[in-house]
Amino acid sequence: MTPIGNEDLLMNTHFDVVVVGGGGSGLAAAVSAAERGTSVLLLEKQPYLGGTTGISVGSYTANRTHLQKRAGVEDSLDAHAEDAGKFAAADIEARNNGELRRFFLSHSAATLDWLTGMGLRYHGPSPEPPNRVPRMHNVVPGAKIYIATLQAHLERHGGTIICGAPVVELTRQDGRVKGVVAEIEGVRTAFTAARGVVLAAGDYANSAAHISRFKGERFTAIEGINPHSGGDGHRLAEEAGAQLLNMDVTYGPELRFVPPPGRTFQQLLPTRGPLAWLMGRLLPAAPRWLTNALIRRLLVTWQHPENALFDDGALLVNKNGECFCDATVWPDREIAIAQQPDKICYILLDRRLAQRYSAWPHFISTAPKIAYAYVEDYLKLRPDVAERGPLDAVAARRGLPADALRSSIDAHKADGQALAGDTWVLLGPAKAYFTTTEGGAAINQQFQALDGKNQAIPGLYAVGQNGLGGQILWGHGLHIAWAMTSGRLVGEILARGAAD
Ligand SMILES: Cc1cc2nc3c(=O)[nH]c(=O)nc-3n(C[C@H](O)[C@H](O)[C@H](O)COP(=O)(O)OP(=O)(O)OC[C@H]3O[C@@H](n4cnc5c(N)ncnc54)[C@H](O)[C@@H]3O)c2cc1C
Repeated sequence: MTPIGNEDLLMNTHFDVVVVGGGGSGLAAAVSAAERGTSVLLLEKQPYLGGTTGISVGSYTANRTHLQKRAGVEDSLDAHAEDAGKFAAADIEARNNGELRRFFLSHSAATLDWLTGMGLRYHGPSPEPPNRVPRMHNVVPGAKIYIATLQAHLERHGGTIICGAPVVELTRQDGRVKGVVAEIEGVRTAFTAARGVVLAAGDYANSAAHISRFKGERFTAIEGINPHSGGDGHRLAEEAGAQLLNMDVTYGPELRFVPPPGRTFQQLLPTRGPLAWLMGRLLPAAPRWLTNALIRRLLVTWQHPENALFDDGALLVNKNGECFCDATVWPDREIAIAQQPDKICYILLDRRLAQRYSAWPHFISTAPKIAYAYVEDYLKLRPDVAERGPLDAVAARRGLPADALRSSIDAHKADGQALAGDTWVLLGPAKAYFTTTEGGAAINQQFQALDGKNQAIPGLYAVGQNGLGGQILWGHGLHIAWAMTSGRLVGEILARGAAD
């Protein structure tokens, strides 16, 4: 990765295209423009590339793909466009931009070809009802390979990457967005973009200001899974006059275990070099048990504990061992968790419940139809969030006061949920998180940001989570497919010249 503070690099401040954000959509936009000979600068706020794309599971949902054809799956755009509308609740789906989502889905297979053409490999397609046919493609070995592969291609095609360079302002001239100002090593540095600036700065799941303003104050204390999802792109778009759509729609909040200490399993997967190459070649043909084992690792890292646990009587307590809410009511449970000390909670199961959640159809977490994680999986793969033993021992190992825990068990019993026995499983710490946010700038099919009168703002483009354009992309795999597809297409458009 290009080190910041490189004098030669900063000599050049004029580019055809400036991309704000080095996650999936930004890298896709930059590669797509650069491989057509366009001069591209990509500015990334963090000291490293990746964004939410880099910590995701990596699933990519699409129709009429070469992998579907190879597996004998017949699919159509009409069928996918219809099925994509079955994931969200009716009131949320009613707010979808159907025309844009259909346009996106019509390009999703070509983007998958583009990605596999760069060497990416996928496992699947896997079923995910209510999709009527298997459409989910899981990148192997993990989502970080998107970042490493796109970064390598961008460098090969002469693109410039500067990390540690948050964009703080858009510059304008004669009503046109002309460039950006980034803070590099504390110095405000201006860059111009002759053809356009592409906003690709991800979502606002961890922006208390955006969440409070658009979703409501009672959600403000809930964090985003990605602590860097700060909503900068939405702020920049709004300052330039863009219309923001569906800003109150969020994926979550959901209860999730805190991430493992240190680097997650996925971050340990190789993304470059011979081992990554070998895994990429072998995994698509690997037996299902092996890929399921890998996916189960991801499951226990990020997937949320099932609500059914609480319907069956599992006890939710805070770090003082106290019950603090009705654990079966969403999203009040999540709001209440975020008010607890350190915003954390624990889930207590007795022997009966631990046995029940040790075999299908009762699982702790799942990526539906791909893999299921049970009590034993957590004890084995996530010892940092799973303890088994006598009550005093599991409480002591997590620093919970055993007496308070016992009182909570008694109170739970009085509520008709009897937990008993001498062996217990304590899961946690867990927190309430927003996974992602669904609000974004209004855009047209050239990815130009639109103002309040639906007029294109000259020189300003938005992709990925910044340019959702009112689409509802629920289910697994559509966000990454959109990030990559919107990035690829905007790069093509800008390589031909500005759209306006
Ligand atoms: C745990 C988890 C698992 C997921 N799994 C899946 C999945 O399997 N399939 C799927 O489709 N979706 C998944 N999602 C959602 C999906 O990963 C994201 O919606 C998608 O990757 C977003 O891509 P993006 O390019 O818009 O944003 P990002 O990948 O977040 O990239 C944005 C980048 O912009 C940078 N940035 C921010 N502000 C600035 C600034 N001011 N200046 C410069 N740079 C800036 C950020 O640091 C970041 O690197 C998952 C989400 C989570 C949290």
